[in-house]
Amino acid sequence: MAKGTGISCSFCGRPKSEVGILIAGVTGHICDSCIAQAHQIVDEQMRFDTKSETKADFKLLKPAQIKEQLDEYVIGQDDAKKILSVAVYNHYKRIALKSKASEIEVDKSNVILVGRTGTGKTLLAKTIARSLNVPFCIADATVLTEAGYVGEDVESILSRLLQAADFNVEAAERGIVFIDEIDKIARKSDNPSITRDVSGEGVQQALLKLLEGTEVNVPPQGGRKHPEQKMIKVNTSNILFIAGGAFDGIEKIIARRVNRNLIGFTGKNDVKVDSANLLQYIIPSDVKDFGLIPELIGRMPVLSYLDPLDEKALRRILTEPKNALVKQYVHLFALDGVDLKFDSDVLDFIVNKALEYKLGARGLRSICEAILTDAMFEIPSSKTTKELRVTLDYAEARFGKSKMAKLKIA
Ligand code: ADP
Repeated sequence: MAKGTGISCSFCGRPKSEVGILIAGVTGHICDSCIAQAHQIVDEQMRFDTKSETKADFKLLKPAQIKEQLDEYVIGQDDAKKILSVAVYNHYKRIALKSKASEIEVDKSNVILVGRTGTGKTLLAKTIARSLNVPFCIADATVLTEAGYVGEDVESILSRLLQAADFNVEAAERGIVFIDEIDKIARKSDNPSITRDVSGEGVQQALLKLLEGTEVNVPPQGGRKHPEQKMIKVNTSNILFIAGGAFDGIEKIIARRVNRNLIGFTGKNDVKVDSANLLQYIIPSDVKDFGLIPELIGRMPVLSYLDPLDEKALRRILTEPKNALVKQYVHLFALDGVDLKFDSDVLDFIVNKALEYKLGARGLRSICEAILTDAMFEIPSSKTTKELRVTLDYAEARFGKSKMAKLKIA
């Protein structure tokens, strides 16, 4: 710290008496406000540098490499992984081709993933975006409305992507958007089980515009457009859209078609069909019969399905992925100097509860929380605990006392 009088900031020239703090360097001094200003400049420069790096950081991986990355985070779902890896590879190759002004223009390969909730649709899309280092956002189709209705305009999807890209338009323009619950905007007439005040068809039409690849004026902060707001132009032609949905009841449509075809083809219905997992036979016309308009399906030409998660898959999900739940808890406890261990039958218990509550993989976490909350509350204050072994008795007792267990009784 500067000593004595008569000294001043070597940057702004203000004397010591006019500044808060004056720090001495080898040959001069700097005051607190100049430090703050310098900090801001450095901060902005660093932000700018990271933005310009994003482009260089984008990695075009080969399909097999993309699948390898997916394997690290997502259990099973081999068909979806393969189809997605190829679609994503072709999509980004197409962008590269376009910039070389090639004569042949390759069509976009937006994707529809059909599978029960909690089977890994969002996780697949998120993992792909992370491996390629491109901006990613999730949009919920159920909150979208056609222009003029109360709700979110489809453009709000792009606001979210822009935010994910830290407002770097160029990066956002080759990002990935995951549209969740696409099945909920199906046409009512084709699928009477869907009750929506505003017909989904209008939203599908509005989405079409985005998928087709146009320049869209996007309100940077999202929400509804209003005249005073400054808009950012975003071109959607290189954005990859992956839509996911459970398409409840589509199995019936598939079964009807498969049976009809089989009978037509063989004269009798003796070809083996795996009726426990009919989704694997899905084709675009099933999605159309469910209530998505043909134009939209045409813009999302890659279609794949996810398998339901059985006991074996759930058990693997608990321990195998790179950021598996068990690994996360072990890490959390290790940060408090505690060695956390799960007995093997506890993992079976967690899986069985997830199946019992019909929560799929999504339920694994709530069950783990129910078992470990007491320990996570007490251990940080304990100076003596160095190890926690979760036995079946411990797990059953803690789970039995939890809100989840009570919910089941109610
Ligand atoms: P949805 O199919 O409804 O989009 P998500 O991808 O959001 O399901 O899955 C919910 C959570 O369940 C994920 O965050 C992940 O922890 C887990 N999960 C689901 N499926 C898998 C899977 N196949 N492999 C690994 N984890 C999974």
